[in-house]
Amino acid sequence: TSVVHASGLTLRYGRTAALTDVSFTLYDGVTGLLGPNGAGKTTLLRIVATALPPDQGTLSVLGNDPRTPAGRLAVRRRLGYLPQDPGFHPGFTAFEFVDYVAILKELTDRRARHQEVSRVLDAVGLSGQRGRRIRALSGGMRQRVALAAALAGDPDLLVLDEPTVGLDPEQRLRFREVIAELGEGRSVLLSTHQTEEVMALCQRVVVLDGGTVRFEGTPADLAAHA
Ligand code: ADP
Ligand code: ADP
Repeated sequence: TSVVHASGLTLRYGRTAALTDVSFTLYDGVTGLLGPNGAGKTTLLRIVATALPPDQGTLSVLGNDPRTPAGRLAVRRRLGYLPQDPGFHPGFTAFEFVDYVAILKELTDRRARHQEVSRVLDAVGLSGQRGRRIRALSGGMRQRVALAAALAGDPDLLVLDEPTVGLDPEQRLRFREVIAELGEGRSVLLSTHQTEEVMALCQRVVVLDGGTVRFEGTPADLAAHA
C-alpha cells in the first residue's frame, strides 16, 4: 500500500524553481530523501506535511487529498513533522513544549494529552529531562524533544527534515538508533544530504537534485547505479 503518492509537483519561489514535475511513491518503512543543499528537500517535505501548497501537481497522503480543508485536517492528525527549525520557545520546559505541540494537534483532553506527552518523552529517552528548560538542553536533547513532539498522537507517518544535522557523531548515532526503532510499525520520510545515512537507515531512497527526482529505489540499487 502506498503512504504518499505525488504526481507532477511543481513549486516556484518567485523566479526560483524549487521543484519541477516531482513524482514519487512512498511505501511502508523508512525512506530517505537524499540531495545536496538547495535540492528542494525542505520544500517537498513541507508540501507533504501540508504546510505549503504546490503550484501544480497532485498528492495523496495517507489516503487523503490535502487540497481540501478536511483532507489537510485528516493528514495533520496522522502525521508527525520535525521541521529544521522547530520554533522552540527556549523558556518552555521539555514537557511544556511537547504539550504545546500536542494541543496544536488537537489532543484536547488534558489528562489523556499529558499521558501522551509523558509517553513520547519516554520513547525518546527524555523522561528524566522533562522539567528542564529547552535553553538548558544540549543540541542532541533538543532534537529529541522536537522528535517527541512529532511523535505525539502516535502518527502513521513521520516526516523528518535533516534530523541529524548539527549533531556531533555520538549524538548522531544515538539519534539514528531512535529513528530506526520508530520506523517499526509506521512510515518515516527523512531528508538528508548524507548518502551514508541513507545506507544505514533506509529501506528506500528518493534522490532529489535541482528540484527534480533523479532516482527512486533501494539503497542497494542506488549504490549499484552510482
Ligand atoms: P533543500 O532543503 O534541499 O536545501 P529547499 O527546499 O530549502 O532545498 O530550497 C530549494 C530552493 O528554493 C533553493 O534554491 C532555495 O534557495 C530556494 N528557496 C527555499 N525557500 C525559499 C524562500 N522562502 N524564498 C525563496 N527561495 C527559497
Ligand atoms: P487550513 O487551516 O484551512 O488548512 P492553512 O493556512 O493551514 O489553512 O493552509 C493554507 C493553505 O494550505 C490552503 O489554502 C491550501 O491551499 C494549502 N495546502 C497545503 N497543502 C496543500 C496541498 N498539498 N495541496 C493543496 N493545497 C494545500
